[in-house]
Amino acid sequence: MPIWNPWHGCHKLSPGCANCYVYRRDQSIGKDASVVTKTRDYDLPLRKDRKGNFKLSPEDGVVFACMTSDFFLEDADPWREGCFDIIRQRRDLHFYIITKRIERAVSCFPEDWGSGWDNVTICSTCENQEMADKRLPVLLAAPIRHREVITEPMLGEIDISKYLSTGLIEHVTCGGESGDNARPCSCDWVRELRRQCVRNAVPFTFKQTGAVFIKDGRLYRIERKLQMSQAKKSFYSYVPGMGMAENIKYELPDRSVLFQRLSRSKFRSRFHLSDKDMTYIREKGMSVIAAHAREFIITRLGEENPENDGKQTPMKGHPVFIAQHATACCCRGCLEKWHNIPTGKALNEREIEYMTNVLMDWIVSQLGPPDGQMTMI
Ligand code: SF4
Ligand SMILES: [Zn+2]
Repeated sequence: MPIWNPWHGCHKLSPGCANCYVYRRDQSIGKDASVVTKTRDYDLPLRKDRKGNFKLSPEDGVVFACMTSDFFLEDADPWREGCFDIIRQRRDLHFYIITKRIERAVSCFPEDWGSGWDNVTICSTCENQEMADKRLPVLLAAPIRHREVITEPMLGEIDISKYLSTGLIEHVTCGGESGDNARPCSCDWVRELRRQCVRNAVPFTFKQTGAVFIKDGRLYRIERKLQMSQAKKSFYSYVPGMGMAENIKYELPDRSVLFQRLSRSKFRSRFHLSDKDMTYIREKGMSVIAAHAREFIITRLGEENPENDGKQTPMKGHPVFIAQHATACCCRGCLEKWHNIPTGKALNEREIEYMTNVLMDWIVSQLGPPDGQMTMI
């Protein structure tokens, strides 16, 4: 991936900057990263080789601009217009601009920017909820053709659902922090962000774990060279329609352990079958109820990205619905949280059978000892 750094140096702005890699790298060579200077590479996209061909060609991929500074930094105001001119001349290249200063962007766009240029992606970074709520509304309102979001270093759980649901964000990338003083990144935060992307059919990339990663209550220190490969191995990245989550390794919980956990949840243990539900079950018989359970699972939860996910299971109207809430088989988010079944993939036969069994176990437990009139399956 070609990198174009027209200037170098930056000023720390928000919590994500605390361990900025530009500062760390400059410090290691005795340089002051807070001094912002125009670089010799300023006109790199216009440079040609001896044969007269541009040095940067579209085949090399997207050009990452300003990776050792911030494109919208105040210090660079006198130089930015020239950069836009270069981008204007190289319509054949796609430029990717990552910024923590999206609120400055609109006043910096050139006169002929219009509704944005097709060869520019602007990516706002947000390391925590506060920065997401501050920057993403600005990103969405700004005239930009291609918008992306990066949560890196991810410093806490972040809910960006309402921004994703606009359909204006093309990609979300997430990652932990590197370096000796790295703050931890939790796998739960990554999973939760991924779920939000799945729900809104927005591609998601888990780029790297960072140096300190918490998974299932354990803290791991991960060497720099393994941080990207470990993230890749987790298969948490998501591309709508690709079924990549098929590869996520997981085990379905043991049913007795699951029921113990459920009994400790105030919310889950609140659900009980009504007399009407009981009568319905007795009239229909268990095999019919099991067939209904299976059908609801397939039609309401079975697809890679079910419609209305999170709201597809009514609170009443059928005993199976009650069983779904009681056992956390109500939506794909709950299926992932309680049963390890990853979102972003269609349910397979093994999972459908497991869920049917969980629902029927719960219904049987509600009915109490058989009274002789029941048709058990
Ligand atoms: S905005 Fe980016 S480059 Fe600038 S200090 Fe913060 S992390 Fe470093
Ligand atoms: Zn749910």
